[in-house]
Amino acid sequence: MKKFILLFLPLWLLAEAHIFVLHRVDDFRYPSTNIDSKILEKDIKYLLKHNYKIVKLSTLVKRIENNQSIDKYVVFNIDDSFKSFYKNGLPVFKKYKVPFTLFVYAKATDEHYGDYMTWQQIKKTAQYGELGVHSYAHPHLAKLSNEKIIKDTQKAINSFKKHIGYVPNMYAYPYGEYDNRVQKIINRYFKVICNQNTGAVNKNTPINDIDRIAITGNVNIAKKLKINVLNVKNLTIKKDKNTIKEVSGYVKYPYVYIYITKLGWKKINTNNGYFDYKPNFALKKYRNRVIIRYNNKIKTKLILKEE
Ligand SMILES: [Zn+2]
Repeated sequence: MKKFILLFLPLWLLAEAHIFVLHRVDDFRYPSTNIDSKILEKDIKYLLKHNYKIVKLSTLVKRIENNQSIDKYVVFNIDDSFKSFYKNGLPVFKKYKVPFTLFVYAKATDEHYGDYMTWQQIKKTAQYGELGVHSYAHPHLAKLSNEKIIKDTQKAINSFKKHIGYVPNMYAYPYGEYDNRVQKIINRYFKVICNQNTGAVNKNTPINDIDRIAITGNVNIAKKLKINVLNVKNLTIKKDKNTIKEVSGYVKYPYVYIYITKLGWKKINTNNGYFDYKPNFALKKYRNRVIIRYNNKIKTKLILKEE
């Protein structure tokens, strides 16, 4: 019966969009943050050939807000405003007339760090896409006091005002690192906030906590497009200092796989949809991911170790 009802729902209600984030292009000194421009071109060709609509992040957000279809919508984000994007990535986007959203690390440009674009180059780049803010000094925000987070944000805002003439309402966390406290502060200044938790985007995605999929190396974009949102109700992660005691919530599936950084995957059966995993696991790293997965559907949560 349930399946029968689904047939009468407009299909786009179930549709999901994908936001891909890249950093350096053809800078093979840094394989973990680099993408080959030939691979990028191949990916864009694939998307266009298969009728994906590549739009700016602001366009996707507007469509979510207006309850419009986001079926087969794809967004490219570029974090850090590296010179290697200007040199090797921008020509690809120009060639295929495909827009993007560039998140600018303002201090690197203000202070002329070697690997980063100048304000002139950023302005030129913006003509083919749009800009967002990627903090001023690229700090580990969760390690900063409220005052310091505010100070960094205000510096970024002032820098944009001075060099660009306006301030975008979009922000991407440096290193993708945040917690509730950080999010609340950043949200005072920016309406749209991107993290770097692997996942897709659907009509229920909060626009102040948008998941993005990093692409590096020899990425298989067709495979990444299969990632869908796992809807988890009442997702709760209980911690005692830096030990994860419990991961629980509701899904509509008989089981889920749960991953924790440095612990790995574990299959957890659900009871009327309820799962309750008690790993009792002491976090090993500063940045940890808890991933809940059922087939291609995933939900990622970032857990930062308290220092
Ligand atoms: Zn960054």
